[in-house]
Amino acid sequence: MISGTFPSTEQRNSALCPPRRPGVRHAGIGPGDNAEVTEPDLLRLLAVHAHPDDESSKGAATMAKYIAEGARVMVATCTGGERGSVLNPAMDRPEVWERLTEIRAEEMDRAREILGVEQEFLGFVDSGLPEGDPLPPLPDGCFALLPLEEAAAPLVALIRRFKPHVVTTYDERGGYPHPDHIKTHEISVHAFEAAGDPERYPDLGEPWQPSKLYYQMSFTLPRTRALHEAILESGAESPYTEWLASWDPEKDISHRVTTRVPCAEYFAVRDAALIAHATQIDPTGRWFACPIEVQQRVWPTEDYELARSLVDSTVPEDDLFAGIRSEVGVR
Ligand SMILES: [Zn+2]
Repeated sequence: MISGTFPSTEQRNSALCPPRRPGVRHAGIGPGDNAEVTEPDLLRLLAVHAHPDDESSKGAATMAKYIAEGARVMVATCTGGERGSVLNPAMDRPEVWERLTEIRAEEMDRAREILGVEQEFLGFVDSGLPEGDPLPPLPDGCFALLPLEEAAAPLVALIRRFKPHVVTTYDERGGYPHPDHIKTHEISVHAFEAAGDPERYPDLGEPWQPSKLYYQMSFTLPRTRALHEAILESGAESPYTEWLASWDPEKDISHRVTTRVPCAEYFAVRDAALIAHATQIDPTGRWFACPIEVQQRVWPTEDYELARSLVDSTVPEDDLFAGIRSEVGVR
């Protein structure tokens, strides 16, 4: 379900568009940025993620595609991943554990280069994934425990500086129930709404209102089922059998998908970026168990839910910038 509002063209124009003058390209489409430029402006996408590696497993091929098309893409990484485990047996060594935070930052550097994105850490401390019964309390000072207003501030500042037209984040359940992923959703929605408001966070730069907010929706039941069936048809063993057996169809989110971005030719870039996160990703593990050719044939898109839009936009869409390109002067 789309929870955003879709104002009329008139409302949108009065809210967002500076007056047009013949022969002049208009750069910004948000309040506070009426700068006029003579060159077409670049489309800008901001992807908000919880930990280093999340950007490479969720929406990475979409980002690589838009980079290849000339857009600017920024990844905001909320935490340093300090409380993550070493999930790749080949990297599970004392010298890796001793320097885990630095190593994860180095891995992020490599992934950033592979994807071609810009990237900034927002500076929060990983909350860890609590395990046990009862669940232990979250550690003091961690990202998930911070008050929303405070936790969203660096993202508001980044939005005002980078001026994204589109912001992507996780859905309200975090995509999966890690407290940092849920918090990432919360600060993204909060910052999307606050960044354009001159009354809020007045010390964090000139207001900028992004035009669209999306939730990542790539891990759906229909996609996993389609990959599973294609693998079985090829005569191989499916890595998804157990996963599918325990999947509660009630919890499937595929009915919320509004936007499917074709990006199959960038799946290899996505995989290379994932492998760069060597402490987190086992190259022999489930991420890579489905051959890339099968993925390209069976499910060649990354999928999203359009959660908020301030531009005219008709769903279903195949482009995160739908409704924005004409405003920015880029096609
Ligand atoms: Zn994560």
